[in-house]
Amino acid sequence: MVAPWTAWVLTLFPTMFPGPLGESLAGAALKKGIWRLETVDIRGFAGDKHRSVDDTPFGGGPGMVLRADVLARSVDGIAADAGPETPIFYLGPRGRPFDQPLARSLAEGVGVVLLCGRFEGIDERLLEARPIEEVSLGDFVLSGGEPAALAIIDTVVRLLPGVTGDPRSVADDSFERGLLEYPQYTRPREWEGRTVPEVLLSGHHERISEWRREQAERTTRTRRPDLWERYVGTRDGTR
Ligand code: SAH
Repeated sequence: MVAPWTAWVLTLFPTMFPGPLGESLAGAALKKGIWRLETVDIRGFAGDKHRSVDDTPFGGGPGMVLRADVLARSVDGIAADAGPETPIFYLGPRGRPFDQPLARSLAEGVGVVLLCGRFEGIDERLLEARPIEEVSLGDFVLSGGEPAALAIIDTVVRLLPGVTGDPRSVADDSFERGLLEYPQYTRPREWEGRTVPEVLLSGHHERISEWRREQAERTTRTRRPDLWERYVGTRDGTR
């Protein structure tokens, strides 16, 4: 039997997992064995009797830095189990921005190793000495990599076959075609004097999908000119 898609998480706070990933869609899929979570406590790889994993930064400054030797032992152990096809990401604000295309490519693979930093971050030499790519959740600073790991795993898991009941719900999502999603409506038909766009009640599938495309394009153009420019480039075959 092929092993299910596996997320390996290296963390100082293993009790944060599965956390929200144990609920709802991801949780049900975890119980069904569609994906697997291996949480590894970095502290287990500390060398001395104090089990220390961090130290003060060379050059001075506030806070603590996670040690390269301790992290390397943890990464090497997991990389051996996960195999060479599994990419290793360090979660950090300087990294490649995580996005839907990256999530898709991870979902097509065998899994991912996610190294969560804490405090001031990690010793830079680890990133030079091991095949680790730094990946960022966005242009903001978290207090640790764990929320980023949860977000990344959640994003990938809902793309795995058999996780969402209807694969079309994923195909229409924001970013899947380079556009943000069209607005959604449900019952009641009238709420606080507001009705639902007429076309959605028409039962006319072509007109509905045309309306949704227009809405998706308008929302993208006004809210995210950066996405819109890329979308127009790809659509017109100029890029
Ligand atoms: N001093 C660092 C930030 C450390 S924040 C800097 O300025 O770059 C502590 C930890 O939180 C980091 O080691 C990293 O693992 C995680 N983290 C913070 N922001 C993140 C982000 N935007 N994406 C992913 N991980 C992040």
